[in-house]
Amino acid sequence: MVSSSPGAAPRLAIVGGGIGGLAVAAFLHLAGLPAVVYEQASALKEVGAGLVLAPNVVRLLRRLGVMGKLASHAVPLDVGWEFRRWEDGRVLSSEDLASSCERLYGERTYTAHRADLHSAIASAVPAGTVQLGRRCTGISVRGDSVMLWFADGTSVEADVVIGADGVHSVVRGAVTVPSPATYSGICAFRAIVPVGRAPEFARRRAQTLWIGPGHHLVHYPVSGEAAVNLVAFAPAGDYTTESWSATATVEEFLAEFAGWDERLRDLIRQAGTPGRWALLDRAPLARWSHGPVTLLGDAAHPMFPFFAQGAAQAVEDAAVLARCLAEDTQAPPQALQRYESLRIARTTRLQQVSHARAHVNHLPDGPEQEARDQSLAAADPLTAGEWIYAYDPGAADAGAAD
Ligand SMILES: Cc1cc2nc3c(=O)[nH]c(=O)nc-3n(C[C@H](O)[C@H](O)[C@H](O)COP(=O)(O)OP(=O)(O)OC[C@H]3O[C@@H](n4cnc5c(N)ncnc54)[C@H](O)[C@@H]3O)c2cc1C
Repeated sequence: MVSSSPGAAPRLAIVGGGIGGLAVAAFLHLAGLPAVVYEQASALKEVGAGLVLAPNVVRLLRRLGVMGKLASHAVPLDVGWEFRRWEDGRVLSSEDLASSCERLYGERTYTAHRADLHSAIASAVPAGTVQLGRRCTGISVRGDSVMLWFADGTSVEADVVIGADGVHSVVRGAVTVPSPATYSGICAFRAIVPVGRAPEFARRRAQTLWIGPGHHLVHYPVSGEAAVNLVAFAPAGDYTTESWSATATVEEFLAEFAGWDERLRDLIRQAGTPGRWALLDRAPLARWSHGPVTLLGDAAHPMFPFFAQGAAQAVEDAAVLARCLAEDTQAPPQALQRYESLRIARTTRLQQVSHARAHVNHLPDGPEQEARDQSLAAADPLTAGEWIYAYDPGAADAGAAD
């Protein structure tokens, strides 16, 4: 196969059709650049779990023109980061999103079910862009072009490959020697509770975090307030299964929160068959791009979910990468280097602060916990998070609006 002729748009291949892969296809489309997404799954779908969407990602979703579609399912939050003490639910700090978020950052903060976010972004991707059942098994760079091989025995040649293939990225092998994943020692329980079974306090438009020794638990409404998303973090012990489909029992979940506020335990009792998986730990990569290959989202910078920014960072990557490629169609490797240099410091910082929060959230009662609670009470988290929420990759990628 020959490479594309001079002056022609580069052939862009995206490996992975998750939130990041679809977002970059959508931003590229907005910039007038066609791409093909190769997704291993046989259908486009997302697992059952919730996400918090802060203003930095909402602003980009609006630019993609998908906030109208998402709005009927997303829940605008009135209260964010409401930290509560584990044994009695005392509020340690909270963000008044209802009165301040839009005024400060031009957008509200929402929660959404992952499936709703995924399908909203998919609606901005032109029909025929995504090829399903295409599991990439190998990649090799040949001069200016790249070969991708698939489990079905086929291969394709592209001028640019974007690895949006998540935390176990195959594409990463063409870019860097990956840092080894280690077990973090933390596991997560998750559940979606129908609103009719959720206690009153969990139905509020609030993102609530109960923090205590070795554990914390987060809940907020999703799916147009029809359900409450529950995710909790606990010591993993010898549990090392990293899978969205592995499950636990309510008894195992409850045992982790023995002695915690009974209202919270009542919520856990409604968890049905909770999901459970071990969180992996990965050090930030020193680089994401090599020649015509780059990475995006969790493939580039997997992070602990404690700042609720993983998907948001994938969408930010997508906006910046599409802009860089659109501005430099004749020299893609240069565009990829520019993208990486615009993004890596920010995502590395988020990886680091997300990592550090595990220790802070899980302090045992004692002087360090008391100092933490005092500083939580003194801080204004909404303005302290300005570096996260005010970020806008620029007007050059703007186009559609709701
Ligand atoms: C408990 C928890 C809570 C979270 N909460 C939030 C939150 O509140 N806010 C937030 O912004 N983020 C949150 N995140 C993070 C967020 O879910 C991820 O960062 C985000 O999904 C990353 O998107 P991605 O597209 O990079 O990767 P993924 O979503 O992992 O998508 C990768 C895609 O690539 C496909 N794929 C993989 N390998 C191949 C291959 N070899 N060939 C072809 N296709 C392949 C997969 O099937 C998948 O579709 C949370 C994460 C967790 C675990």
